[in-house]
This record gives sequence, structure tokens and C-alpha cells, in this order.
Amino acid sequence: MYELNEKIRDLVPYEPIAGEYPIRLDANESFLPLPAELRARIAQTASEAAFNRYPDPLSRDVTAAFSAYYGISPDLVTAGNGSDELISILCTSFLMKGDAMMVILPDFSMYQFYASLAEGRVVTCGKRDDLTIDVDEVIAKARAENVKMIVFSNPCNPTSLGLPREEVRRLIRSVGALVVLDEAYMDFWDQSLLGEVEQYDNLVILRTCSKAIGAAALRLGFAVASPRLTRVLRAVKSPYNVNSLSQAIGALVLGEREWEAEARERIIASRRALQASLETLAAEFPGAFSLYPSCTNFVFLKTERAKELFEGLLARGVAIRHMGGYLRVTAGSEAENAAFLEAFTALLKEGKG
Ligand SMILES: *Cc1c(COP(=O)(O)O)cnc(C)c1O
Repeated sequence: MYELNEKIRDLVPYEPIAGEYPIRLDANESFLPLPAELRARIAQTASEAAFNRYPDPLSRDVTAAFSAYYGISPDLVTAGNGSDELISILCTSFLMKGDAMMVILPDFSMYQFYASLAEGRVVTCGKRDDLTIDVDEVIAKARAENVKMIVFSNPCNPTSLGLPREEVRRLIRSVGALVVLDEAYMDFWDQSLLGEVEQYDNLVILRTCSKAIGAAALRLGFAVASPRLTRVLRAVKSPYNVNSLSQAIGALVLGEREWEAEARERIIASRRALQASLETLAAEFPGAFSLYPSCTNFVFLKTERAKELFEGLLARGVAIRHMGGYLRVTAGSEAENAAFLEAFTALLKEGKG
């Protein structure tokens, strides 16, 4: 019988949450659909696509739109089929077999997944009890373990916490490793390093259209790095990695600056409202759960009743994320937040007995 190798033998396909739930606050997507007027232009653009031709390998139009949106040079940008693909490319190309890649836990789980597929050695560094990052510890461990790559999200998924930019700069300057800074949620905070990426020869910043931009369906992500690193990224990616429809539609969506700014404000307002309601609840039910200060579009809770609350919410049609003793809840529409809060309050009352 054909034998599967050990790095893939026990893997199972990714399944977000099986089942149909009317309220989905589990994937940190934007709760705002694209506006009707934009959709009409998208339909027109889609109908004009050259379906018989391969896409532009350099995704030039959407890269130009992304660069204009963030005010950076397109020469520093590589488009990917979601930032997920870019993480995969970084692991397989910038790590040799057995090279150490550091993750700072808890963090986005895909980093370790792609590193082990690339036969990298995953080195883990913990966070402080309050889930903040101890940069000195990261630097010391990176040096001691001869780490070749450090990957982390800032602001962090799942903790919702941000590491101030001066600390990130200090980390990048203090290590020889490539630092992959995943800014998937930086549209909701103001500590981006996009504007200074050229100052470092060991920095790759990842951005995505899946969160604040509200276009998770397109699978569109971007790596921003110095021209030297960008050349490598463009050389190692598969030639036609971003399909023509995502390129064309992505360019339209990123061109909608006013709408995007308004959407971002509405998402942040929703997260603030969710956070405020949960803080009120935390005061009403002392000891039931605690909340972290969020600079993202989701909130992160610590509770001993995580599993029971998660399952109780599912039974009431509300999907969120459960990770050990923690819960992560995406900020939704007013109605979605209200449905979550109603179910969550009912469960807290039950628990009180
Ligand atoms: C959602 C998310 C991404 C985005 O991935 P895409 O493949 O671009 O959809 C990347 N990093 C983190 C930490 C995320 O939470």
C-alpha cells in the first residue's frame, strides 16, 4: 500500500465550524456587504474579463490600487491568493529543512501549520500572563535558538492586543532573522510599519483584504517588503497565483476609499459597543469572565466556562470561536451583537443557578 509521509499522514481538512448557524461571529470577517453601486460595477467588470487568458502574473492593477490605498510604492508589493498563501510561500522558501521558525503563542495557528509542512523546526515563545509580548524574551530566544524567521500578528489574532510600533522596531533591529509581521488587523489600529518597510532588510509585512476591506471571498493578500525581498517573493510564488476576477474586483474595491473608511469606522464602532456591553456584563457577573482591551474587529474573553458557553451559544444559533479557556467574538451588525449578547447573558444567568 502507498505510504503517506509522516508530515501529512494525520492531517485533516480545515473545517471552520460544521453546521448552519444564523449568527456567524467566528471568522473575524467584516459584517458589511459591499454597496449595491459597487456590486453593479463588479458585475460589469466580471462580464468583461478575459476568461480564456491567464491572469497577470504580477497582479499589476490590484497591486497599484493597494499601493495607492496605503500610500506606498508598488515596487514593494507582492499579491497573493490570500495572505495565507503568502505565509505558505514564506515558510517553504525562506526556511531550509530543519531551520527554526519562531511563533509567539497564542497566535494565528496557520504559521505553525505551514512551517511544519515546510519541514521547519517550530520554536515557541510564550506571552506574559496578561497575553502581552515580552520583546526582550523574544529577542533572547531568537538568538539562543538561531531562529531564521519570526512570525507574529500585530494586532494579534486571537488576543486582540497590539504591540506598539516602537517595540516592533526594536525587535526587527535586534534579530538576524526574517521578521514576518502580519498586520491583518492593522486597519483597526494605528501602529503600522508599512511606511518604513524599506528601512529594514529583514522585514515582510502582510496585509489582507479579508478583514477591514470586507472582501474575504476574493482571497487577496499582500506582502510588503524591500525591493530585494520583493524580488524573491515574486520569483518563488506560483506564476498565476491570483485569479483575474480577484485582481479586477480587488482593484475596484480598493479604489472605494470613502466607502472603505466609513466601513472601517462602523466596524470599530461595533467592536466598541460589543466591548462596552461585555464590560457591563462582566461587572454584573463577577468572576464569570474577563475581557482584553481590543485594537481589532473582535473581542477576546477569558473564562473557566469557555467550552460550556461556546456550546450553549451554538445551541442558540450563535457561532463564535473557542480556544481552551478563551472565547473570541467577532464584532457583527447591531442585530448580530444583540443576538450574541442575549444568548450569552442567558447562559451566564443559568450558570449562576
Ligand atoms: C484573517 C487573518 C489573515 C487573513 O488571511 P487571508 O488568507 O488573507 O484571508 C491573516 N492573518 C491573520 C492573523 C488573520 O487573522
